[in-house]
Amino acid sequence: MTDPDLPKLFEDPVFDDRAADPARPWTTTYRRVAHLGARTGSAAPLLAGGPADRQRLRDLLELTAMADPAAFHVLFLHQCMATGAALDFGAAPEDVAALASGRAVGAALMTEVGLGNSSAAVRTEAVYDPVAREFVLTTPDAAAAKYPPNVGMPGLPRLAVVGARLLVAGVDRGTCLFLVPLHDGDGASGVTVAPRPRTSLLPLDYAAVRFDGVRVPYRRWLADGASISGSGAFHDPLGDPRLRTARSVGWARFAWGAVTAGLAAAARAAVAIALPHAGRRATVDRWGVRAAALTRPNQQRLLFGAAARALAATEFARGITDTAWRLAPGGGRGTGLPARTMGELALVKTAVDALADEAVARCRSACGAAGFFSENRLVDYQALTAAFHAAGGDNQLMLLDAAWRMATGDDYTPPPAGPGPAAAAGSEPDWPLLLAARERALYTRLTSGLAAASAGGLDPSAAWHERLGLAEEFAHAHRTRVAVEAVAARWRRPGPSGGSGEQAVLPDLFRLLAVEAVLPHADWYAARGLLSGAAAEALDADLTAVCRRLLPQAESVAGLLEVPAAVVRGPLGGRDYVRDLTS
Ligand SMILES: Cc1cc2nc3c(=O)[nH]c(=O)nc-3n(C[C@H](O)[C@H](O)[C@H](O)COP(=O)(O)OP(=O)(O)OC[C@H]3O[C@@H](n4cnc5c(N)ncnc54)[C@H](O)[C@@H]3O)c2cc1C
Repeated sequence: MTDPDLPKLFEDPVFDDRAADPARPWTTTYRRVAHLGARTGSAAPLLAGGPADRQRLRDLLELTAMADPAAFHVLFLHQCMATGAALDFGAAPEDVAALASGRAVGAALMTEVGLGNSSAAVRTEAVYDPVAREFVLTTPDAAAAKYPPNVGMPGLPRLAVVGARLLVAGVDRGTCLFLVPLHDGDGASGVTVAPRPRTSLLPLDYAAVRFDGVRVPYRRWLADGASISGSGAFHDPLGDPRLRTARSVGWARFAWGAVTAGLAAAARAAVAIALPHAGRRATVDRWGVRAAALTRPNQQRLLFGAAARALAATEFARGITDTAWRLAPGGGRGTGLPARTMGELALVKTAVDALADEAVARCRSACGAAGFFSENRLVDYQALTAAFHAAGGDNQLMLLDAAWRMATGDDYTPPPAGPGPAAAAGSEPDWPLLLAARERALYTRLTSGLAAASAGGLDPSAAWHERLGLAEEFAHAHRTRVAVEAVAARWRRPGPSGGSGEQAVLPDLFRLLAVEAVLPHADWYAARGLLSGAAAEALDADLTAVCRRLLPQAESVAGLLEVPAAVVRGPLGGRDYVRDLTS
């Protein structure tokens, strides 16, 4: 952590949950975000700064996700999504300054309510008015309303980045981004914000937004180097509306850089609560023997497995922050990141969410009833991981996109042919190679099926849709292999500096992660001779043995989580959970 004082910001009374209005908890959420902004803000956005500023921003996002997932949601939309678009697509300096100062809270309005995968075909229109040199923003019908951005709280100045189809002299120029103030009376005339009812998980002021002839000045077009001359001549350096749309939709990368860090942090916080709790939680078995929950192999499997996932999610997440937040020198014009890099970032977003979701679910399960109640935070972390199945881009659609690119594009090379015959009894298999073998097999099945369908004259769309299940399975297998490989280098054999203390548990955490990835497909590996039958059957016992080795190292595992005590509140995280849950 760049600033050891950062966790202290979360000791402020504003983070005391008892102060929140249960009917409108987001009023407290926005106060918390303002508190953090006032104490960490600077004249320029942290996102625009050097490596130290960005590290500070990521630290802040991680801590906020641990302390209050809803505040994290507001913070990342403001600091990364809205500010990222403003910087990367060339907002006017005064608008960047308004966001940096927190005078306006940023928002992102892209998704439309009435169409699946709507960001691929946004229908909100921005019609250029050459006389006034303005854009007129209109929602053509209810199905094109923006839904569900958290912009429903009246009186809070919001500066929204809105995705709209640009029409110049009747010609469609693709989806562009515009800055539109909401709620502050400054140019917001014609904006209708319809607040939605309070929701249970990640409660915020969600709303549906419609535009009816909203006038947007030329300077608030995030033109990204495109222009319309005084005589009405349109120029876009990208040269193609489809590329413009892809560039605008690709703005999501600023979310992916933030969200991956936040999800991984929430997962670590869940483990930091549940693992020590299991160490002190008494249980009794059918023989009347009392023992700490964590001495039971089932709890070990849940919680050490959760720790492995949370830490893997963290490595994965931190590995993409710089790329996801990259700004072209000078800012405000560019082509964005290459399609291949965007695809990799999207896949990491889905992978981190899946790892974090499973980690939190295991922690909740291990904590029984206490895992269900908000005061113990775990269910709030789960709300965050569940929200990001859809938010930031639908995970299933992103997996299918990844499968399509890998199966039909030229920027993916399937892993080399299998690891050969099963490893000799007693020797440890090469787990990443095993995972790669299954990925390759699924790739071959998918591409040969598509080729056969094409040779048979089947329409490409029909051929693809018939194989969506296989495509998703292939993308899953790829994602799992990449996730395990991402940690393999550092965890499998920690070097001289990483071989002692807390780091000494990494090889066993790696084994847990890898074996649990192979286990669901043990029969597949055995049927192909990649694992001997005996080795496949022994996987379960291997996991139990790994967990038994980790048990005396539970404190070292907890020490790797980087969860400051100041940010995690609630009875389960406290000293005496029985007293705190009953008083
Ligand atoms: C808590 C939360 C906060 C959000 N905040 C914002 C925000 O601030 N701003 C914003 O713009 N958006 C926001 N969103 C919306 C989010 O970005 C969308 O949920 C996401 O992009 C997916 O769009 P969708 O919900 O319309 O789902 P859909 O696109 O309808 O996808 C749902 C499912 O439908 C199926 N599907 C859809 N299209 C296809 C297809 N072509 N082929 C096959 N299957 C298909 C898939 O099974 C997919 O998983 C938020 C969402 C949540 C949950």
